[in-house]
Amino acid sequence: MTTNGAAPLRGEVVRGDFPIFEVGEGERPLVYLDTAATSQKPQVVIDRLVRFYGREYGTVRRGAYRLSQEATAMYEGVRAQAAAFLGARSASEIVFVRGVTEGINAVARAWGGANLSSGDEVVITAMEHHANILPWQRACARAGARLRVAPITERGEVDLEAFGALLGPRTRMVSFVHLSNALGTVNPASEMVRMAKAVGATVLLDGAQSAAHAEVDVAALGCDFFVCSGHKMFGPSGCGILYGREEVLASMPPDLLGGEMVDRVTFEESTFDDPPHRFEAGTPPFAQVIGLGAALSYIESLGRSRIAAWEAELLRHATGRLLEVPGARITGTAAHKGPILAFTLEGVHSFDLGTLLDEQNIAIRVGQHCAQPLMDRLGVHATARASFAPYNTLEDVDAFIEAIYTARELLV
Ligand SMILES: *Cc1c(COP(=O)(O)O)cnc(C)c1O
Repeated sequence: MTTNGAAPLRGEVVRGDFPIFEVGEGERPLVYLDTAATSQKPQVVIDRLVRFYGREYGTVRRGAYRLSQEATAMYEGVRAQAAAFLGARSASEIVFVRGVTEGINAVARAWGGANLSSGDEVVITAMEHHANILPWQRACARAGARLRVAPITERGEVDLEAFGALLGPRTRMVSFVHLSNALGTVNPASEMVRMAKAVGATVLLDGAQSAAHAEVDVAALGCDFFVCSGHKMFGPSGCGILYGREEVLASMPPDLLGGEMVDRVTFEESTFDDPPHRFEAGTPPFAQVIGLGAALSYIESLGRSRIAAWEAELLRHATGRLLEVPGARITGTAAHKGPILAFTLEGVHSFDLGTLLDEQNIAIRVGQHCAQPLMDRLGVHATARASFAPYNTLEDVDAFIEAIYTARELLV
């Protein structure tokens, strides 16, 4: 592990924890600027998976034998760890899911099915990821409820006045992104939760981009649900966390039905287990969850405030240099931003830019970032996006900017 005490993080040091950044003889180093899509994995997470699959493997919550009991203890141990990581009051508020997409779908189906009816309203914002639009679109259509969208400003911030004006006695659910994957905006979540709570709404926060990059305390935020994905938090793919406040989970019916979530089953009628197991039908992604435990420990060893401080330095450097590039326009200039820099370059198709950067082993994301309504609102077809992580360096940023200049020479 790389760190000690409170010395600031340096990307040069952190990248040593990640085998993907090892450079072979005559190879170009990888400049990985797509952490917002998925993060790279530190050796400690890979080692944890190898050890579990190789030496400790057994299913959870079923066996009478040692391997299964020990795997169950590890799996439940990560639940307690995740509760502490997110500031939940108890491990029973933590449900393991496959990721943010599954988590929001589960809430929209299960909570929405039980709580939305004709005339009700669900409020989202104009900067949501498709994963926080489509499940609500369907839940509303099924219930005869209405989906309302809070507008954003030119800078890419939620228009709080307009957001407040949408809230009222019909508002059942307010679901919004904590840190926008397409703009980098950090929403004033506590304030928005407080406004939603004032009208009695239930609140879901999409924490896909925030969980690994900032301190998250669900109790302080006051939300009812918070979702995040393991693969964006230096952990394995195929697992994620759905936090649900105890009282809300207690009254929510299960979404998936099957094994290991029941109390008693007959052909006529069945009763279900208590939360969180009621929401984990079937064999869960237990190996991934155990790997996620190593990822959460890794994040805590770096320290989330130190991660945020280093990423802010990367963002500041990248923003300053990008603004000097002729024809570059940053999409998303909120006062409070996370480690995401989206932009367009006049005369250059973002897909061509992505391809040219890839030739130099620089990975960025191009396209619509699963946010087509937002792209429509911004009046752009697509943007290019660089996103930063503690393993990035100022040299990564410089390589990225130099490659943009080279691309301009070729394409403009
Ligand atoms: C990545 C992302 C999602 C979807 O997460 P999955 O891990 O693909 O399920 C949802 N919302 C935001 C803001 C994201 O960045």
